[in-house]
Amino acid sequence: MTDILARAEGIAMRYPVPGGTPIAVLEGIDCEIAQRDRIAIIGPSGSGKSTLMHILGGLIAPTSGRVEWPALGARDTLMPENVQFVFQSPSLFPALDVLGNITLPLLLASRDAGAKDRAHALLARFGLEELAAKLPEELSGGQAQRIAMLRALTTAPRLILADEPTGQLDSHTAEHFLDGVLEIAARAGIAIVIATHDAHVAARMARLWTMDHGRLVKSAQQMEDA
Ligand code: ADP
Ligand code: MG
Repeated sequence: MTDILARAEGIAMRYPVPGGTPIAVLEGIDCEIAQRDRIAIIGPSGSGKSTLMHILGGLIAPTSGRVEWPALGARDTLMPENVQFVFQSPSLFPALDVLGNITLPLLLASRDAGAKDRAHALLARFGLEELAAKLPEELSGGQAQRIAMLRALTTAPRLILADEPTGQLDSHTAEHFLDGVLEIAARAGIAIVIATHDAHVAARMARLWTMDHGRLVKSAQQMEDA
């Protein structure tokens, strides 16, 4: 059994421009995500972090190159059980309250038994129980981001890709929240990849990928994996 969850080889991404030359957003990227990895992706805005994460999560296909998920299967079987994505922009379902949003992936995976208890336990773990019955429109940006992350954790997938999940949190709250997320991920064997601008958040991840102008210019080990 391989422990490689996702692998990209020589991938490039070019977005079409109507009537113009396509813009190259990613070029020549090789990378791997292994079981239980903890990776931070850093780099300036526009360097391609989100695009790379979308490709590694199977949400979009690259223009060229290979992406595969050796330990997980074909692209159309990744979600919601094996891979969860936390989007940079708000992604909670407006008509569902917080509890409904968190339990949704479990319902989609036909694992409704105990879903609500699990969601309540997750909310309690992060001191967010009072949000359970609130609608997304009643949440602050930072609360909505945390709920989206809890929704990703709820199915205990093999891989969570989170795009700037703490961007609307103050750094103290961000670190505290991330500690909890990493603790749950370690226990459940979930690999976590986070794109972030927060140096403190990046410092807590075992590996650091640095993006610049669509290239993965550096991949460094910062600490032993948990
Ligand atoms: P980052 O997450 O590092 O800010 P992105 O991956 O979001 O970078 O974007 C990289 C580049 O690709 C940017 O120049 C952005 O404008 C462009 N881009 C992203 N998504 C699209 C799209 N769907 N169509 C056209 N251009 C896009
Ligand atoms: Mg981005």
